[in-house]
Amino acid sequence: MGPPDAILGVTEAFKRDQNPKKINLGVGAYRDDNGKPFVLPSVLKAEENLRSKGLDKEYSPISGSPEFCKHTINLALGDDNQVVPNGLNSTVQGISGTGSLCIGANFLSHFFPGRKDIYLPTPSWGNHTPLFKLAGLTVKQYKYYDPKTCGLDFQGVLDDISKIPEKSIILLHACAHNPTGVDPKPEQWAELSQLIKKKNLFPFFDMAYQGFASGDVLKDSLAVRLFIKEGHHIALAQSFAKNMGLYGERVGAFTLVNGDKDEAARTLSQIKILIRPMYSNPPINGARIVTEILGNPELKKQWLVDVKGMADRIISVRTTLRDNLKKNGSTRDWSHITDQIGMFCFTGLKAPEVERLTKEFSIYLTKDGRISMAGVTSKNVEYLAHAIHEVTK
Ligand code: PLP
Repeated sequence: MGPPDAILGVTEAFKRDQNPKKINLGVGAYRDDNGKPFVLPSVLKAEENLRSKGLDKEYSPISGSPEFCKHTINLALGDDNQVVPNGLNSTVQGISGTGSLCIGANFLSHFFPGRKDIYLPTPSWGNHTPLFKLAGLTVKQYKYYDPKTCGLDFQGVLDDISKIPEKSIILLHACAHNPTGVDPKPEQWAELSQLIKKKNLFPFFDMAYQGFASGDVLKDSLAVRLFIKEGHHIALAQSFAKNMGLYGERVGAFTLVNGDKDEAARTLSQIKILIRPMYSNPPINGARIVTEILGNPELKKQWLVDVKGMADRIISVRTTLRDNLKKNGSTRDWSHITDQIGMFCFTGLKAPEVERLTKEFSIYLTKDGRISMAGVTSKNVEYLAHAIHEVTK
């Protein structure tokens, strides 16, 4: 018997709890200020448009819809990028972020010409290690998070990357690092780009939160655009789960940015050969919704408002939580709550404190002290602050 999934286990325990004040801070899905799942107005409108078109249900090509692929890579690289007009990208639709990462992992495992080692930040999203291992890559680590400051250990990052053997693969969270919410600053990204180039490492960007972190899709793709500008060839996994709220639709994309057009054609052909026996071709509905939104200027404008609305709610509830901790008399430094960005906050709570939060206050989170800010609302934030203060004073 295999062990249950750590994060889904938190939700199971939450469901069994009878306390009316219970809070689930385990799930990585956006909730509105009433704690309810949120379908974006732009998505509802896109679905309405699609229904009126009376489309068929025929198979998609192996690489997904070409229109979807064009829109999604332009969203990541910016409309003024030189990659797409010069045919340097091989982009395929993937099964959300996870499936897109899997395509990349399998491609690199078969064809990466250097060392088949991928270096992950410590910590990283829990699914990275099993996913890359399953594809046959060797998973290694580089320093990232500093528990003393609840922030970035930038010197540690630089020191560890300096020690990585040349021609290895390095995984980078493009924005809203999961689980820590800690991102490098723009000038730190610039330094990382130089170092990664000097060491001849191959960057694999995981971009699961474009727009969801700061509310601005361009700001959140800064690192990816900078690396491209500096001439890196990269792998990129994108997800539309969070920024369009299309979790269960499973829509994302995988891209390789190649050296020339011929290489792009060759890598695309091999990616398609890998996809065919895995799942043949991707689901059509989510990709149609994304294409409808990104391809229609009015709807895209609405979506940019929708995604900013979600990001802004999370940013504002971070401030409210910090203020309420102070109001409760907490003398701890909670500045990391507002310094961190995206869906998650790495609170710095220790395992026994987490256990007390759950046992005494019916507040559910992962043992590492990570809380999903999406689960915090104007209605439960005071109770949460009170509980955190009680277990940390
Ligand atoms: N990568 C990171 C860092 C994530 O946090 C997530 C989701 O939590 C994903 C990838 C993939 O999510 P999905 O497969 O739902 O798009």
